[in-house]
Amino acid sequence: MSAGVVVACDLDRTLIYSSAALRLGGDDEQAPAMTVAEVLDGAPLSFWTRDAEEMLGDLVAESTFVPTTTRTRKQYRRVRFPEPGPRYAVTSNGGHILVDGAPCPDWSQTVRGRLQECAPLAEVVAHLDAVADDSWVRKRRVAEDLFTYLVVQREDLPPSFVDDLTRWCAERGWTVSLQGRKVYCVPAPVTKSAAVAEVALRVGADRTFAAGDSLLDADLLEHADVGFRPAHGELHEAGWQAPHVTVTDRAGVAGGEEIVARLLAAVRAEAGGTEVGGTEVGGTTVGGTTVGGTEVEGESP
Ligand SMILES: [Mg+2]
Repeated sequence: MSAGVVVACDLDRTLIYSSAALRLGGDDEQAPAMTVAEVLDGAPLSFWTRDAEEMLGDLVAESTFVPTTTRTRKQYRRVRFPEPGPRYAVTSNGGHILVDGAPCPDWSQTVRGRLQECAPLAEVVAHLDAVADDSWVRKRRVAEDLFTYLVVQREDLPPSFVDDLTRWCAERGWTVSLQGRKVYCVPAPVTKSAAVAEVALRVGADRTFAAGDSLLDADLLEHADVGFRPAHGELHEAGWQAPHVTVTDRAGVAGGEEIVARLLAAVRAEAGGTEVGGTEVGGTTVGGTTVGGTEVEGESP
């Protein structure tokens, strides 16, 4: 009996798309039917295709589907998954593991301990105050007392800013990621992959599939057995590749749908004992929807 698969999937620009990230192309009649994935201040903010939403329901039922995001817990809670929704989630770039919506205190404490390995948040915030100019910075945010990001006017962002900041942060054990209008500074010891590995341990999963589009997803994809990334975003622009990671044919929200379809196919192939992503799967059949509901003793929600 296979212990099942954890499917760790980034949210923004991997699974859900703001209107600026949809890339619908020129032909309105060819645009996919879409549904609203997130509402903010009474207005729709993020979308997925109707087909993606439907397949996502199957993915949640047939695997341990773990939304894995740099979003804060509050930002994560706005995303409207098909009912009943995922049991586990990784938020704050791995800073928190949510179990049935509640943060796991053991994990939060483990993460706090790891922060000793890098420069303190205050030092990075102070540096950003000194080097990021208000003429192109729209907002300065500290998230969950864990990391910080700027919301910037992309067209006015000085060309060398991100590279300079990346170098400065790397010397202090921090990672920089540019995603849309946001420049993230995140402590390097806090990773999506570590949090997902913890979830896999708790549910007893022996395989991890992953999808993501940004530099903060690189470690997640690297640690997965099978990975997918869209043909857009930070990793795509950097030409990032790995032998076990497939790039989608399409970009934008259609690429998001393709990722859900490919993840679902991979989960079903795994359950059926088929070879996936170049790795031999041991002929085990996982019946029906039992995988996603696996209960593990001693779990601390
Ligand atoms: Mg993303």
